[in-house]
Amino acid sequence: MKAMVLKAPNTPFVLENVPDPVPGPGEAVARVLACGSGLTIQHVKAGRVPAKFPLIIGHEITGEIVETGAGVAGLKTGDPVTAYFYLNCGHCRWCLSQLEPLCENLAGNVGRVCDGGYAEYIKLPAHLFIGLPEGLDYRRHPAEIGVISDAIATPYKVLRRARIRPGETVAVFGAGGGLGIHMIMMARWARARVIAVDIAPEKFDACRKAGADEVVDASQTDAGTALMDLTDGRGIDVAVDFVSATSTLEAGVAALGRHGRLVTLGGAGKPFQVSSMDMLHKELDLLGSRYVTRREIIDCLDLAARGEIWPIVTDIRPLEAAEALHERVEKGEVIGRAALLIG
Ligand SMILES: [Zn+2]
Repeated sequence: MKAMVLKAPNTPFVLENVPDPVPGPGEAVARVLACGSGLTIQHVKAGRVPAKFPLIIGHEITGEIVETGAGVAGLKTGDPVTAYFYLNCGHCRWCLSQLEPLCENLAGNVGRVCDGGYAEYIKLPAHLFIGLPEGLDYRRHPAEIGVISDAIATPYKVLRRARIRPGETVAVFGAGGGLGIHMIMMARWARARVIAVDIAPEKFDACRKAGADEVVDASQTDAGTALMDLTDGRGIDVAVDFVSATSTLEAGVAALGRHGRLVTLGGAGKPFQVSSMDMLHKELDLLGSRYVTRREIIDCLDLAARGEIWPIVTDIRPLEAAEALHERVEKGEVIGRAALLIG
């Protein structure tokens, strides 16, 4: 099969012919129609997160099952699928409680410790494939449907994690990024008032189009002060921080009003300071949100099938153009998501 292979961290893709994957017991192979190209996998390509090389990256796939190994039930040849990003075990107490991101036997990520979707075929443990619902025209929109499993499902999970209710004010830090813009879209879908915070003003038109009511240019103004002004001094209900640098986390907490919630995801894991007295007096919640559950992906696929939401994918190219596409991802030039068309 054709595959885009990374031989080492921070090197260009090499288009190669590699052996077709063969499913072992409990595994399945899918033909890949499209695969999303987000910053998460660019971090792997650039060598900013550890991975095993040589490697085929990519996890936001739309595919069709072509072969199943011994003992696989619930999947058959021809089934349209997307994939779960974490190699969870499927049988620990967390997996059985539908909290798969907390799996205590987590083996890593698709496209990081095993080959991913930048190839004509992908082999995974069968339980990682998630069937697509009827009503999703996956042959016509494979790029958009592929990215639902992360770009839509991650913000959808945040809506639940932070208990975002209609009419609440939600500030999205890093709003212009691929996840940020979909967070705006999903918070708007949840009938919240949405404030986009970013340092890239060229992304603000897209933020408004995605549903932002207001934008804050944090390169020009203090985000915390701006958020207080925009809420008449009451503070925001929820801060969702995709940057999660010390400064943005502290700005987010400072801007929370009574009963405020801060959600951290992404970032480099830096510590930040918060007053425990503020937490007590305002009854603040400080929350982490780690990827999504399978159920959340299924919910989002259903929402897309019903026409409630639709991913923003603005740069779709053939597999051979992966390098040029990733240069744009690295520079933060893509609005929403980029994706490769493969099958
Ligand atoms: Zn588990």
